[in-house]
Amino acid sequence: MFKAHLANPSLLRRLFIRYVFIILTLTIIVGALVSRQTTENTLQEIHHSLFIRAQFLAELAKPALQQAAQDTGTIQKTVVELGKKTQSRLTLISQDGTVLADSQQSPLSMDNHANRQEIVDAAEKGIATTRRFSQTLSQEMVYLALQVRSQGKVVGYVRVSLPLTMIDKQLAQLRLAILLSALVSAFVALILGFYFVKRFSSPLTKITAVADAISKGDYSKRIITEQKDEIGLLAKAFNRMAENSQQRLTEMETERNRLAMIFTGMVEGVIYVNKQQQIIHINQAAAHMLNISTITSIKQPLAELIKITEITSAVEDAIAQQDVVKTQVQRQGNSDNIEVIDIYAAALNNDQGESVGAVVVLNDISELAYLERVRRDFVANASHELKTPITAIRGLTETILDDLLMPEEIRLRFIEKIKTQSIRLSGLVTDLMSISRLEANQSEPTFEAINLTKTLKQAMLNASNSAQEKNISISSQLGNSKMIIRGDQQEINQLIDNLIDNAIKYTPAAGNINISLIAHENQAKITVKDTGIGISHAEQQRIFERFYRIDKARSRELGGTGLGLSIVKNIVEKHHGSITVESTKGHGSSFSVVLPLS
Ligand code: ADP
Repeated sequence: MFKAHLANPSLLRRLFIRYVFIILTLTIIVGALVSRQTTENTLQEIHHSLFIRAQFLAELAKPALQQAAQDTGTIQKTVVELGKKTQSRLTLISQDGTVLADSQQSPLSMDNHANRQEIVDAAEKGIATTRRFSQTLSQEMVYLALQVRSQGKVVGYVRVSLPLTMIDKQLAQLRLAILLSALVSAFVALILGFYFVKRFSSPLTKITAVADAISKGDYSKRIITEQKDEIGLLAKAFNRMAENSQQRLTEMETERNRLAMIFTGMVEGVIYVNKQQQIIHINQAAAHMLNISTITSIKQPLAELIKITEITSAVEDAIAQQDVVKTQVQRQGNSDNIEVIDIYAAALNNDQGESVGAVVVLNDISELAYLERVRRDFVANASHELKTPITAIRGLTETILDDLLMPEEIRLRFIEKIKTQSIRLSGLVTDLMSISRLEANQSEPTFEAINLTKTLKQAMLNASNSAQEKNISISSQLGNSKMIIRGDQQEINQLIDNLIDNAIKYTPAAGNINISLIAHENQAKITVKDTGIGISHAEQQRIFERFYRIDKARSRELGGTGLGLSIVKNIVEKHHGSITVESTKGHGSSFSVVLPLS
């Protein structure tokens, strides 16, 4: 029964068992003491009452004792009567031990009592009590004998006695009463004890249950108690502790999640290794860069998992030097890309300054490096392209200046060449400026509604002269409906001009150019198709690169800069469109630009 209620059965059962033991021991001790004391008091009272009766009898019997020979029959009657009234045996004994009267026996049948113990003692001390077997009544009796004196002389003895069975009966009743009250008290004490143990154990059971839940990670449980005592205070303290722990745990979890989020969201790869250079944490970016898993790499030795010596030696150096080590790794990536990763390894120390490992930060700068390469190539190409006409102009000018006697006709030819080179130079500068403007201004502040049909018609008109010069016909299917896009009119003009210009440039005389405009799924598709020299599949991949020309000399001769298509691509991308080319070498090309309709 207790087990169900007790928080800690062994503790509380022990407590209750001890309590039971104490209560029972105390009950036994107190019962025994009370019983002893009560017995003593009762015996004393019996003695006292025997004594009173004896005194009373002595007073009554004194005259009779003085004249022992008097009418013994009258005395005997009186004694018998008194004996009945006092419920005791009364005996009147003369000074020589002769029994003169007895309340329960005829004195004549009784022998001399001078040798009876109580009489012997009373003769000596004046009063005496004894307990012995009565030969007269054949039972255990208590006797009290009192010496009776008259005028300084002993005249006889009175003896009062009670059967011991009567006293024992009284005492037994008394003991039974004590035992019963002791048992009742013990029972009440046990019931109260059980009640208090239960009361004590119930909140402890709750506290234990909550503590158990907390130990299993459930911090939401609370102890509900109305108690105001120490247990109530303990429960409250426990609740506060659980609340604080929950709060702290939540804070820690939030902090951990925040850190994990930062770690996960970081563009830079982060690896944390312990002193033994085992991976303890690796974020998504690092795992992606190194082509490993964030989960299976945990606890793996860094050197075994990552075969990039730059990283492993950076970690080793950082731990050995207790410093930050910076290095870089370059490797061949997928396709033609070169992957460039900046590596920062920093030693980590704990609060005591002891080394605990290192953190590695990987920064993939491949794109930056690529852009840097493109920029360098661009500068080199642009310088080279600019240098060519400038050198030509300078050489021609110097020749003219040096040779004052140069025939007029040659000088004119030279000046014509200077003009061609300066036009080329101007075209180059214009294209470079276009690129720089397009790259600088990637936003769309100048976007306006553009009528594509109208724009294409105007472009065809602009190109008609140069087409006619080469006997190239331009046909078109522009449709009837208005096709409106949002964009920069000047840039869209440039885009279309460049495509038509290329088609005329790279189509031999008597060729044909077709320009079409169709709408498809909220998009406008402009196609410029020619019957020109065509572009091989391999070269189609590269013609949009800056300064890339399939045939440099031919392009130059035709006034090309190698920048036209890269400008076109740039404009298309700025207008959220796409450009594709379909061509077969020797069989013409078809450039298609798709732009979103407004
Ligand atoms: P360019 O100023 O040399 O024309 P572009 O960037 O406009 O430079 O074109 C790059 C190269 O692509 C050209 O040099 C040419 O070889 C090729 N190309 C462009 N358009 C055509 C076309 N319609 N037909 C054939 N080849 C072309």
